[in-house]
Amino acid sequence: MTLHNVHTQALTVSAALGLMVIMGYFVGKRKSKLSRMSGKSHVGGRDDPVMQYLLTHSLREHPALKKLRQKTMEHQLNIIMVACEQSQFMANLARLIQAKKAIEIGVYTGYNAVSIALALPEDGKLIACDVNEEFTNIGKPFWKLAGVDHKIDLRLQPALKTLDELLAAGEAETFDFVFIDADKVNYDNYYEKSLQLLRKGGIIAIDNVLWSGKVVNPAEGDVDTISIDNLNKKLHRDIRINLSMLTVGDGLTLAFKL
Ligand code: CA
Repeated sequence: MTLHNVHTQALTVSAALGLMVIMGYFVGKRKSKLSRMSGKSHVGGRDDPVMQYLLTHSLREHPALKKLRQKTMEHQLNIIMVACEQSQFMANLARLIQAKKAIEIGVYTGYNAVSIALALPEDGKLIACDVNEEFTNIGKPFWKLAGVDHKIDLRLQPALKTLDELLAAGEAETFDFVFIDADKVNYDNYYEKSLQLLRKGGIIAIDNVLWSGKVVNPAEGDVDTISIDNLNKKLHRDIRINLSMLTVGDGLTLAFKL
């Protein structure tokens, strides 16, 4: 081996090591950034200057939505509120496809329900599914304040029952947009019934698909994570839809019905 070859080999090894270190650095950075973003992207709740910049330069929050967010932040479970920028994005998607009929599965105080309802026409309708009246009652005054309470049809019972009732009423293939953000063990059931209710070209948005990163390596017996992971894998090969998985919020999957 010539000196030149040894030198070249040494350079190659050190370059490879350097690349591994750099890659490890970026993977580590990416992971920490993702875990920081996951499910906690509320204005004022961020220490990430880039996220603050994003929110400062893109969020167009309706005054009633801002008040509802502030009210929701006083609640002990405020961490489950949808990310504002994600909510705005979904409302823009609803506008893009000129959505008139929508379903929300998991309402909490209704930040996203109001956001979507604002994107619907005056005669539009959002079927809002939840089982917790205490939470929806916190939000209701703000639904009225936003001037969209007449568009929100709140169904306080298990969402699967509501979806079955809509199907039984002959409303299959009539909905434009569905947002799934409720108990994770039923995600696949919500998805299947929603897909039946959706028209071709309609969109199902599914929240928490990265579940704070836990989907990468689901712990044994963690039924929530396993349910999300199973649905993610199923959707990847589901030929009934086109698919995108986004890193907004805690991970958002968009399924476009073919
Ligand atoms: Ca969620």
